[in-house]
Amino acid sequence: MLESAESIWSQAQDVLRGMLKAEIFTMWFAPLRARGIDGHTLQLETPDDFSEVWLRENYSDLLRSVVTRSAGRTLEVTFCLGAAPVQQTSEVQSELSMGPSTPEPSSNSRTSEVFLNPNNTFDTFVVGNNNNLAHGAAIAVAQNPGKTYNPLFFIGGVGLGKTHLLQAIGQFVLSHRKNARVAYLPCEKFTNEFIEALQGGQLPKFRRKYRLVDVLLIDDVQFLAGKERIQEEFFHTFNALHGNRKQIVLSCDRPASEIQGLEQRLVSRFEWGLTADLQPPDMETRQAILRKKERVFRVELPDDVRSFLAKRIRSNIRRLEGAFVRIASVASLTGKPITLDVVENQLREILQEEGRQSITIDLIQRRVAEHYDIRHADMLSKRRPENIAFPRQVAMYLARQLTDSSLAVIGDAFGGRDHGTVLHACRQVKDRMEVDSNVRQTVSYLEKQLLR
Ligand code: ADP
Ligand code: MG
Repeated sequence: MLESAESIWSQAQDVLRGMLKAEIFTMWFAPLRARGIDGHTLQLETPDDFSEVWLRENYSDLLRSVVTRSAGRTLEVTFCLGAAPVQQTSEVQSELSMGPSTPEPSSNSRTSEVFLNPNNTFDTFVVGNNNNLAHGAAIAVAQNPGKTYNPLFFIGGVGLGKTHLLQAIGQFVLSHRKNARVAYLPCEKFTNEFIEALQGGQLPKFRRKYRLVDVLLIDDVQFLAGKERIQEEFFHTFNALHGNRKQIVLSCDRPASEIQGLEQRLVSRFEWGLTADLQPPDMETRQAILRKKERVFRVELPDDVRSFLAKRIRSNIRRLEGAFVRIASVASLTGKPITLDVVENQLREILQEEGRQSITIDLIQRRVAEHYDIRHADMLSKRRPENIAFPRQVAMYLARQLTDSSLAVIGDAFGGRDHGTVLHACRQVKDRMEVDSNVRQTVSYLEKQLLR
């Protein structure tokens, strides 16, 4: 008998379900789909890049041994980003309501294409000041596809909930409307399918597939930047759907007008409906998100740990969630209580990365000025007495170390100095640090303060 990726994976899932806590299984393993087998490798599709990294780092060995067992031969596992093309309500509903615990994987190629992460629903989405407009619009569109905002265009940085909302709309429509056709896919996947269709002479089929849906959810349209041929195709898909009052929902990491090399006619169409942005969550929302995860995972964080995480991880919900999951997993593996010490230890890298991202040149100037008891304005001025000039150099050095800004940008921020001056300042500080332990200590103290 031919071995099929689906059947191997479905057996493996049964084993994993028995081995792992239900929450862990649901979070990480239920959403995976088998894409295929290539020689000695089983390819698994993950719903997002975060799961991909998480699974690779934490569960590679486990997965390898489980799929090897169910295949009866040695299999490696690789991950790739997946997406869901068109889905039909009846099939998907059973998929959603029963969960992946009762798969019928063998012959049903449609269901194996289903790719909405069951964790991304309105129920699991925490609403705060940062996202209430986007959330409200998503609900409106999900309840009345094609009738309110069309297109609905979400803008937001990495890890702020764009994919979550897109998929929540998809799942809502699928569970409330019989026979609704919903397609969710990252723009990159749309592009790849188009190219394959083009090369395989299957364009009419490709067009039928996407121009006949009721709701089209396309993630990360910044991917269209500079790709003329696919923009053209996208334009016609857009028009066909919009003309038939079918719902279009798009997400992007920046405003449409800021996508380099995006045709004006697409920019204007993207702005036809409603543009809703997702901002980083405030402190309260971050706490609420953690509380929600605690309920889902049935893990309770001590108050000080929850506040600590919410205070320190500000810019990205995916990172906040990643930090939480790491802590929860470590706690469940070691059986030890979750303390601040454990948390700081486990999350050192995440916290540093987070600190780095939230540091601005302005913040550095202010902290350094404060430390040396000079005015912020002195950071920008041309005055050169040593008691001002050196702190200014330290601030430039720190800006170079702790931000991604170029020398020119840093120079600009220091009252319009040129990049040579910044370079010189950096060398100067480095040299002094080498010979003077006081300077070394001061700089490293400032650096630590900024990274907290
Ligand atoms: P984006 O697509 O904007 O990069 P995602 O939608 O993938 O971000 O969100 C990153 C992670 O954070 C996901 O696991 C998502 O479920 C979670 N998340 C984002 N926003 C919220 C929210 N408001 N409430 C709960 N979880 C959220
Ligand atoms: Mg996304």
